Amino acid sequence: MRKAIVVGSGAGGAAVARDLAGAFTVTILEAGGEFRPFGWPLDRAAGLKRLGLLFNEKEIEIIFPAMRVQKTAEGMVLISGRATGGTTTLSCGNALRQDTALKTIGIDLSPEFEELEKDIPVSADHERLWREPTRRLFAVFADMGLDPRPLPKMGRYELCRSCGRCVFGCPHGVKWDSRAFLADARARGAGLMTGCRVEKLLIRSGRAEGIIVKEGRHRLVIPADLVVLAAGGMGTPPLLERSGIPVEPRLFVDPVLCLAAEWKDACQDRELPMPFAAQRNGYILSPYFDHLSFFFNKNWPTPAGNILSLMVKLADSESGRATGTGVDKILTAEDKAGLEEGTALCADILGRMGVPRDRMFFGTLNAGHPGGMIPLTARDASSFHPERLPENVYVADASLFPASLGNPPIWTIMALAKRIAKVCKDLNR
Ligand SMILES: Cc1cc2nc3c(=O)[nH]c(=O)nc-3n(C[C@H](O)[C@H](O)[C@H](O)COP(=O)(O)OP(=O)(O)OC[C@H]3O[C@@H](n4cnc5c(N)ncnc54)[C@H](O)[C@@H]3O)c2cc1C
Ligand code: SF4
Repeated sequence: MRKAIVVGSGAGGAAVARDLAGAFTVTILEAGGEFRPFGWPLDRAAGLKRLGLLFNEKEIEIIFPAMRVQKTAEGMVLISGRATGGTTTLSCGNALRQDTALKTIGIDLSPEFEELEKDIPVSADHERLWREPTRRLFAVFADMGLDPRPLPKMGRYELCRSCGRCVFGCPHGVKWDSRAFLADARARGAGLMTGCRVEKLLIRSGRAEGIIVKEGRHRLVIPADLVVLAAGGMGTPPLLERSGIPVEPRLFVDPVLCLAAEWKDACQDRELPMPFAAQRNGYILSPYFDHLSFFFNKNWPTPAGNILSLMVKLADSESGRATGTGVDKILTAEDKAGLEEGTALCADILGRMGVPRDRMFFGTLNAGHPGGMIPLTARDASSFHPERLPENVYVADASLFPASLGNPPIWTIMALAKRIAKVCKDLNR
């Protein structure tokens, strides 16, 4: 059987590996280790904040190595997962079909979305888990004509314990993450190598003969007939550049900015994050307790249970680059205007909840939906193979998205990855 290497085990990697397994001898290479949810009680971490020991978001990597933290020159904090399951383990579980830009270039992933619906339990029926301030927020959103909708979540939310730890990995096995697809892939014969960072492709005469992995001081070549790169929006583009293949400076990240206020016994820190959202032009609004801001932003008071927070998640301009050693990303004037508009609306909502403007405080600008540096175009609508790639190399992650979503991308990344698996299997016939 022909050999396929899949790089990365997050949304795209696990989905493509699962569907290729059986047709190819699949080996999944993952830079991180086996994922474990963050084990500390959050009160203990809050104790470090009170002692003034939490001052740089990079500290998270020491106590929770599955979470990778990078910063832009403007101080925007970029979060990604580095362990089995990639960033899906840190997600809020939201599953939204977001394929407008793909449709525009002639790509219809309807069959793949249908397949995902069969494979993954998704439900928006979680209102019983909402706390009283969240219900009030929903009513205010509705009164303002913002059309709030409960967000569909991947997992068995009938078992959710409202612990609020989704972004640290669900300790109760409720939230779905791509380790489930990884387990399926392995059950179908795929191999998984963790702690295995792929350095670059080994290219000869327009084909990849395999990949090069760095192990300590040594370099190891792993041969392959097919390579699928799913190292994420900040991992795949630098890997291609290290292999001599240029990518485009079109990085988007979906910046998140929270506006919050003290609210006695809100307990939003112990609630399902992003229970509902309102779609606006270019951004969404959603209740969100931002643990990152709570732990590291001096404006955020203790205890966590007395904070009520709303997020703006923006579809930012496609401009910037992930270099492998850093991220060059500066928000444009248009991005800043979008965030300003969104936070003004949050201020209005909190105002209607009875919070005076001078009691509101901002969170830390952060982001976790990188992509866009190898965008698909109408030319690639049936091949799913941007011309710049060697003939037996595919990409199966958010790097392929032509435009930022300002919305949760996992569902769409996985649908795209499933289609790419079909294309690769067809070529193998
Ligand atoms: C806090 C947070 C909450 C989120 N919530 C949601 C949500 O509710 N719904 C949603 O749809 N999206 C959510 N997202 C975004 C979503 O998780 C990511 O966009 C998605 O997982 C990206 O999928 P991917 O396959 O492109 O990359 P990833 O899932 O990031 O996987 C990439 C994998 O590749 C590995 N890798 C990188 N470089 C290499 C290399 N050189 N060699 C080998 N392996 C490598 C990484 O370790 C990683 O495991 C959230 C993100 C964050 C940060
Ligand atoms: S809130 Fe629910 S889904 Fe999230 S970590 Fe807790 S039990 Fe899991």
